[in-house]
Amino acid sequence: MQALTNRVKDVDRRPMTFGEKIYLPAVLKGMSITFSHMFRKKPTINFPEQTRQFSPVFRGLHVLNRDEEGRERCTACGLCAVACPAEAITMEAAERKVGEENLYREEKYAARYEINMLRCIFCGLCEEACPKDAIYLSETFTPSNYNRKGLIYDKEDLLIPNPLTEKADLAKAKGL
Ligand code: SF4
Ligand code: SF4
Repeated sequence: MQALTNRVKDVDRRPMTFGEKIYLPAVLKGMSITFSHMFRKKPTINFPEQTRQFSPVFRGLHVLNRDEEGRERCTACGLCAVACPAEAITMEAAERKVGEENLYREEKYAARYEINMLRCIFCGLCEEACPKDAIYLSETFTPSNYNRKGLIYDKEDLLIPNPLTEKADLAKAKGL
């Protein structure tokens, strides 16, 4: 019969030798492999006590950025949502009112901004699309959660602490 691949092997049906019947050589061979691994460097990392060095291009949890005066950079233009291949971003725009210039940098801002982390594939296209440097992917993991709603991040979850009024929180968020 013609084989479909060249990986076919004939089954060895010869009677077992005495050494094969007592299994001892095979057991010793297996033990020697186990023993040799005891002296090798462990490839596993004891997370969270130890953390792995991230790649320079690692893309983690999203952050909504503020400017140096603590104002939200996002102008709710929607380009990130349009660029997102997973349709994970939702937002609602609002007009900045007189007296809110210290809160929002642009005349329009995101009154609501959500990212569904269950849909996100961490491709970084939202970051690339943003003309205001308002969203970027940080070097932080998305924490696990027991319910699906907990993985839909709203603006309060995503905004970085204010560099003027929440200096301690900002330093903590940056791991300083
Ligand atoms: S990283 Fe990619 S999938 Fe995730 S929100 Fe941004 S564009 Fe969408
Ligand atoms: S994060 Fe950037 S691209 Fe997305 S709505 Fe805000 S300003 Fe526009």
